[in-house]
Amino acid sequence: MMEPKIISGNATAKEIKAEIAATVQKRKEAGLKVPHLAAVLVGNDGGSEAYVSYKVKDCAEVGFESTLVRKESNISESELLQVVQDLNDNPEIDGFIVQLPLPDHIDESKVLLAIDPTKDVDGFHPSNVGRMALGLETFKPATPLGIVELLKRNDINVSGKHCVIIGRSNIVGSPLSILLSQNADGANATVTLCHSRTKNLEEITNQADVLIAAIGKPGYVTESMVKEGAVVVDVGTTRVPDASKKSGFGLKGDVLFDEVSPKCSAITPVPGGVGPMTRVALLLNTLRAVS
Ligand code: NAP
Repeated sequence: MMEPKIISGNATAKEIKAEIAATVQKRKEAGLKVPHLAAVLVGNDGGSEAYVSYKVKDCAEVGFESTLVRKESNISESELLQVVQDLNDNPEIDGFIVQLPLPDHIDESKVLLAIDPTKDVDGFHPSNVGRMALGLETFKPATPLGIVELLKRNDINVSGKHCVIIGRSNIVGSPLSILLSQNADGANATVTLCHSRTKNLEEITNQADVLIAAIGKPGYVTESMVKEGAVVVDVGTTRVPDASKKSGFGLKGDVLFDEVSPKCSAITPVPGGVGPMTRVALLLNTLRAVS
């Protein structure tokens, strides 16, 4: 049993936001352009509405400009592609995101491919994914970038450590496995990437110096899956009904926090762990887009 360090994404994100705000202020004083992020929101899915409103709020907090482009859920694919083209062509907009998921009648990959890679601050365009995989300068996807930054700024050195990631999605697990295994600052880990077909998962997770759960199954990671003294990063954020909350729901991580935390040297909470870092990573990418 040990007293784990609770890695606060809220505190780390606040620190980074202050740095970004100071950079924006300097840019203003030097007569340089203020970063301008646009977000395209199709339809009115509750989750997507919330994510986009956070993004707009975050921009205001650091002094960025932002534009929200709202479209009805019945927008055609070609109309949406035109919206993307207009943003590509608009010199005022430095970077933009198209909030996912999109309605079923729209081919998401077609839309993402249409985004100018130099404005693709989500880092989802294949050319940016390719650049990231090759270790070239580019926009890195927000959640993996946020996690690497969170570990670095909380003095968790992953170099030479065994990082086990559960979950291989294109937005979290897979790019994170690439970033952590690169020969780069805040990386150089030995990475094992697990997924639903992984056999003997518990045996593998028990070898992890750093265990990262990105599954989407609340409380899936239990005490018996974690090595004594491990660092645990919980990416999971599943909405579960909670009558005590104004919104009617709470967020649950993939890790059974109360049971697992006494075994860890450090652990991220949900909420307040990876979530705020994902948000701040989008700001970092938007700043990169204008610089
Ligand atoms: P996803 O696309 O649904 O991927 C889930 C991954 O987990 C898949 O690779 C799946 O394996 C794997 N998996 C599912 N059940 C498993 C099991 N029993 N054992 C081992 N692996 C299993 O999810 P995602 O988009 O990566 O998101 C994961 C979680 O992170 C969700 O809760 C999401 O809300 C959250 N999230 C949080 C943030 C944040 O900022 N905090 C950002 C993004 C996502 P297969 O590939 O074999 O199906």
